[in-house]
Amino acid sequence: MRKNIVAGNWKMNMDYTSGVSLFSEISNILSNIVTGDQEVIVCPPYIHLNSLAQLAKVNNRISIGAQNCHQAESGAFTGEISAPMIKSMGVEYVILGHSERRQYFGEDNFLLAQKVDTALKNYLRPIFCIGETLEQRNGNIHFQVIKQQLEEGVFHLPKDDFAHIILAYEPVWAIGTGLTATPEQAQEVHAFIRKEVETKYGSTIANNLTILYGGSCNPKNAKELFSQPDIDGGLIGGASLKARDFVDIIKAF
Ligand code: PEP
Repeated sequence: MRKNIVAGNWKMNMDYTSGVSLFSEISNILSNIVTGDQEVIVCPPYIHLNSLAQLAKVNNRISIGAQNCHQAESGAFTGEISAPMIKSMGVEYVILGHSERRQYFGEDNFLLAQKVDTALKNYLRPIFCIGETLEQRNGNIHFQVIKQQLEEGVFHLPKDDFAHIILAYEPVWAIGTGLTATPEQAQEVHAFIRKEVETKYGSTIANNLTILYGGSCNPKNAKELFSQPDIDGGLIGGASLKARDFVDIIKAF
Protein backbone atom coordinates (compact mmCIF):
# COMPACT_ATOMS: atom_id res chain seq x y z
CA MET A 1 0.00 0.00 0.00
CA ARG A 2 1.09 3.52 -0.81
CA LYS A 3 2.26 5.45 2.25
CA ASN A 4 1.39 9.05 3.04
CA ILE A 5 4.41 10.98 4.25
CA VAL A 6 5.14 14.48 5.49
CA ALA A 7 8.87 15.27 5.54
CA GLY A 8 10.43 18.45 6.91
CA ASN A 9 13.59 19.81 5.31
CA TRP A 10 15.22 22.18 7.80
CA LYS A 11 17.92 23.13 5.25
CA MET A 12 20.83 25.05 6.89
CA ASN A 13 18.78 26.28 9.85
CA MET A 14 18.74 25.61 13.60
CA ASP A 15 21.81 25.56 15.83
CA TYR A 16 22.23 22.64 18.18
CA THR A 17 19.99 23.88 21.02
CA SER A 18 17.26 25.28 18.77
CA GLY A 19 17.16 22.05 16.77
CA VAL A 20 16.64 19.87 19.82
CA SER A 21 13.88 22.16 21.12
CA LEU A 22 12.10 22.31 17.75
CA PHE A 23 12.18 18.53 17.49
CA SER A 24 10.95 18.11 21.06
CA GLU A 25 8.11 20.57 20.42
CA ILE A 26 7.02 18.69 17.27
CA SER A 27 7.30 15.39 19.08
CA ASN A 28 5.26 16.63 22.10
CA ILE A 29 2.46 18.04 19.99
CA LEU A 30 2.31 14.86 17.91
CA SER A 31 2.11 12.60 20.92
CA ASN A 32 -0.83 14.58 22.29
CA ILE A 33 -3.00 14.48 19.19
CA VAL A 34 -4.54 11.77 17.10
CA THR A 35 -3.51 11.82 13.46
CA GLY A 36 -3.76 9.15 10.78
CA ASP A 37 -1.06 6.66 9.98
CA GLN A 38 0.97 9.03 7.82
CA GLU A 39 4.69 8.83 8.35
CA VAL A 40 6.57 11.89 9.60
CA ILE A 41 10.22 12.46 8.68
CA VAL A 42 12.46 15.25 9.95
CA CYS A 43 15.57 16.06 7.87
CA PRO A 44 17.82 18.37 9.92
CA PRO A 45 21.41 19.46 9.21
CA TYR A 46 24.06 16.80 9.90
CA ILE A 47 24.91 18.14 13.39
CA HIS A 48 21.47 17.07 14.64
CA LEU A 49 21.26 13.61 13.13
CA ASN A 50 22.69 11.66 16.03
CA SER A 51 20.76 13.32 18.85
CA LEU A 52 17.48 13.47 16.94
CA ALA A 53 17.79 9.84 15.89
CA GLN A 54 18.09 8.99 19.61
CA LEU A 55 15.06 11.14 20.49
CA ALA A 56 13.14 9.61 17.58
CA LYS A 57 13.53 6.18 19.14
CA VAL A 58 11.38 7.40 22.04
CA ASN A 59 8.70 8.94 19.80
CA ASN A 60 8.29 6.31 17.15
CA ARG A 61 5.98 8.55 15.10
CA ILE A 62 8.99 10.38 13.69
CA SER A 63 11.83 9.14 11.49
CA ILE A 64 15.01 11.00 10.66
CA GLY A 65 16.52 11.80 7.27
CA ALA A 66 19.73 13.49 6.12
CA GLN A 67 19.71 16.23 3.48
CA ASN A 68 22.52 14.83 1.35
CA CYS A 69 25.29 12.23 1.28
CA HIS A 70 28.47 11.70 -0.73
CA GLN A 71 28.52 9.20 -3.58
CA ALA A 72 31.55 7.37 -2.15
CA GLU A 73 31.33 5.27 1.00
CA SER A 74 34.55 6.63 2.53
CA GLY A 75 37.81 8.28 1.54
CA ALA A 76 39.67 11.54 1.12
CA PHE A 77 36.72 13.87 0.65
CA THR A 78 37.30 16.59 3.22
CA GLY A 79 34.12 18.04 4.63
CA GLU A 80 31.81 15.37 3.23
CA ILE A 81 29.56 12.86 4.98
CA SER A 82 28.99 9.32 3.74
CA ALA A 83 25.92 7.09 3.60
CA PRO A 84 27.42 4.49 6.00
CA MET A 85 28.12 7.29 8.54
CA ILE A 86 24.54 8.50 8.27
CA LYS A 87 23.14 5.01 8.56
CA SER A 88 25.32 4.32 11.62
CA MET A 89 23.33 6.93 13.58
CA GLY A 90 20.01 5.17 13.03
CA VAL A 91 18.94 7.51 10.23
CA GLU A 92 16.61 5.95 7.65
CA TYR A 93 16.19 8.47 4.83
CA VAL A 94 18.26 10.85 2.74
CA ILE A 95 17.08 13.69 0.51
CA LEU A 96 18.89 13.56 -2.85
CA GLY A 97 18.64 15.86 -5.83
CA HIS A 98 17.14 18.83 -4.01
CA SER A 99 17.09 21.77 -6.42
CA GLU A 100 19.39 23.75 -4.11
CA ARG A 101 22.01 20.97 -4.41
CA ARG A 102 21.51 20.93 -8.18
CA GLN A 103 21.70 24.72 -8.46
CA TYR A 104 24.37 25.74 -5.93
CA PHE A 105 26.53 22.60 -5.82
CA GLY A 106 26.35 21.58 -9.47
CA GLU A 107 24.80 18.18 -8.78
CA ASP A 108 23.56 16.66 -12.02
CA ASN A 109 21.48 13.57 -12.71
CA PHE A 110 24.53 11.36 -13.29
CA LEU A 111 26.14 12.26 -9.96
CA LEU A 112 22.76 11.86 -8.27
CA ALA A 113 22.36 8.38 -9.75
CA GLN A 114 25.62 7.41 -8.00
CA LYS A 115 24.40 8.93 -4.73
CA VAL A 116 21.13 7.00 -5.05
CA ASP A 117 23.08 3.75 -5.53
CA THR A 118 25.30 4.40 -2.51
CA ALA A 119 22.34 5.36 -0.32
CA LEU A 120 20.41 2.22 -1.24
CA LYS A 121 23.46 0.01 -0.79
CA ASN A 122 23.62 1.35 2.77
CA TYR A 123 19.90 0.86 3.45
CA LEU A 124 19.02 4.55 3.35
CA ARG A 125 15.79 5.34 1.50
CA PRO A 126 16.30 8.24 -0.93
CA ILE A 127 13.72 11.02 -1.13
CA PHE A 128 14.61 11.90 -4.70
CA CYS A 129 13.65 15.43 -5.78
CA ILE A 130 12.73 16.41 -9.31
CA GLY A 131 11.15 19.53 -10.75
CA GLU A 132 11.40 22.22 -13.38
CA THR A 133 12.53 25.84 -13.24
CA LEU A 134 10.18 28.69 -14.12
CA GLU A 135 11.93 29.12 -17.44
CA GLN A 136 11.40 25.46 -18.28
CA ARG A 137 7.72 25.64 -17.33
CA ASN A 138 7.21 28.80 -19.36
CA GLY A 139 8.97 27.08 -22.26
CA ASN A 140 6.52 24.20 -21.84
CA ILE A 141 9.31 21.65 -21.48
CA HIS A 142 8.57 20.70 -17.86
CA PHE A 143 7.38 17.16 -18.64
CA GLN A 144 10.49 16.57 -20.72
CA VAL A 145 12.75 17.85 -17.91
CA ILE A 146 11.05 15.66 -15.32
CA LYS A 147 11.20 12.61 -17.57
CA GLN A 148 14.93 13.13 -18.06
CA GLN A 149 15.52 13.57 -14.31
CA LEU A 150 13.73 10.26 -13.72
CA GLU A 151 15.50 8.42 -16.53
CA GLU A 152 18.98 9.59 -15.60
CA GLY A 153 18.58 9.75 -11.83
CA VAL A 154 16.60 6.66 -10.81
CA PHE A 155 15.42 4.59 -13.78
CA HIS A 156 18.73 2.69 -13.92
CA LEU A 157 17.63 0.89 -10.74
CA PRO A 158 16.33 -2.65 -10.82
CA LYS A 159 12.69 -2.96 -9.76
CA ASP A 160 13.44 -4.22 -6.23
CA ASP A 161 15.68 -1.23 -5.55
CA PHE A 162 13.32 1.30 -7.10
CA ALA A 163 10.63 0.08 -4.71
CA HIS A 164 12.57 1.82 -1.88
CA ILE A 165 12.52 5.23 -3.57
CA ILE A 166 10.27 8.12 -2.53
CA LEU A 167 9.90 10.84 -5.15
CA ALA A 168 9.30 14.51 -4.44
CA TYR A 169 8.00 16.79 -7.16
CA GLU A 170 9.31 20.24 -6.32
CA PRO A 171 8.80 22.90 -8.98
CA VAL A 172 11.86 25.10 -8.46
CA TRP A 173 9.77 28.25 -8.96
CA ALA A 174 7.66 27.32 -5.93
CA ILE A 175 10.48 26.59 -3.45
CA GLY A 176 10.78 29.23 -0.76
CA THR A 177 9.04 31.77 -2.99
CA GLY A 178 5.54 31.72 -1.51
CA LEU A 179 4.29 30.67 -4.97
CA THR A 180 2.61 27.27 -4.78
CA ALA A 181 1.68 25.10 -7.73
CA THR A 182 -2.11 24.91 -7.85
CA PRO A 183 -3.46 21.52 -6.78
CA GLU A 184 -4.37 20.91 -10.44
CA GLN A 185 -0.88 21.81 -11.70
CA ALA A 186 0.75 19.58 -9.08
CA GLN A 187 -1.69 16.71 -9.71
CA GLU A 188 -1.03 16.89 -13.45
CA VAL A 189 2.71 16.40 -12.91
CA HIS A 190 2.28 13.75 -10.19
CA ALA A 191 0.01 11.74 -12.51
CA PHE A 192 2.60 12.09 -15.28
CA ILE A 193 5.36 10.84 -12.93
CA ARG A 194 3.28 7.85 -11.82
CA LYS A 195 2.54 7.00 -15.46
CA GLU A 196 6.25 7.12 -16.34
CA VAL A 197 7.00 4.83 -13.40
CA GLU A 198 4.24 2.49 -14.49
CA THR A 199 5.65 2.30 -18.02
CA LYS A 200 9.09 1.50 -16.64
CA TYR A 201 8.32 -0.73 -13.65
CA GLY A 202 4.67 -1.79 -13.95
CA SER A 203 1.48 -0.87 -12.16
CA THR A 204 2.17 -2.44 -8.75
CA ILE A 205 5.36 -0.44 -8.22
CA ALA A 206 3.69 2.71 -9.60
CA ASN A 207 0.63 2.37 -7.36
CA ASN A 208 2.77 1.78 -4.27
CA LEU A 209 5.10 4.71 -4.97
CA THR A 210 4.86 7.69 -2.62
CA ILE A 211 5.14 10.99 -4.50
CA LEU A 212 5.47 14.09 -2.32
CA TYR A 213 4.77 17.66 -3.37
CA GLY A 214 7.18 20.39 -2.28
CA GLY A 215 7.11 24.14 -2.82
CA SER A 216 5.68 26.67 -0.37
CA CYS A 217 3.35 24.09 1.15
CA ASN A 218 1.74 25.46 4.33
CA PRO A 219 -1.16 24.69 6.69
CA LYS A 220 -3.54 26.68 4.46
CA ASN A 221 -2.88 24.93 1.15
CA ALA A 222 -1.87 21.45 2.36
CA LYS A 223 -5.36 20.00 2.57
CA GLU A 224 -6.25 20.74 -1.03
CA LEU A 225 -2.89 19.56 -2.32
CA PHE A 226 -2.98 16.31 -0.33
CA SER A 227 -6.53 15.56 -1.46
CA GLN A 228 -5.33 15.11 -5.06
CA PRO A 229 -5.26 11.43 -6.05
CA ASP A 230 -1.55 11.29 -6.91
CA ILE A 231 -0.20 13.54 -4.15
CA ASP A 232 0.84 11.40 -1.19
CA GLY A 233 2.16 14.08 1.12
CA GLY A 234 4.68 16.87 1.20
CA LEU A 235 8.32 17.81 1.47
CA ILE A 236 8.15 20.94 3.58
CA GLY A 237 10.85 23.60 3.84
CA GLY A 238 10.03 26.89 5.58
CA ALA A 239 6.89 25.67 7.34
CA SER A 240 8.77 22.74 8.91
CA LEU A 241 10.70 25.20 11.09
CA LYS A 242 7.57 26.08 13.07
CA ALA A 243 6.30 23.16 15.12
CA ARG A 244 2.63 24.22 14.94
CA ASP A 245 2.66 24.76 11.18
CA PHE A 246 4.44 21.47 10.55
CA VAL A 247 1.96 19.54 12.69
CA ASP A 248 -0.98 21.34 11.07
CA ILE A 249 0.34 20.18 7.68
CA ILE A 250 0.52 16.62 9.02
CA LYS A 251 -3.07 17.01 10.24
CA ALA A 252 -4.15 18.18 6.78
CA PHE A 253 -4.58 14.60 5.55
C1 PEP B 1 12.05 22.51 0.03
O1 PEP B 1 13.09 23.12 0.21
O2 PEP B 1 12.09 21.28 -0.19
C2 PEP B 1 10.80 23.26 0.07
C3 PEP B 1 9.72 22.69 -0.39
O3 PEP B 1 10.87 24.52 0.60
P1 PEP B 1 9.62 25.49 0.93
O4 PEP B 1 8.55 24.65 1.56
O5 PEP B 1 10.17 26.52 1.84
O6 PEP B 1 9.17 26.06 -0.39
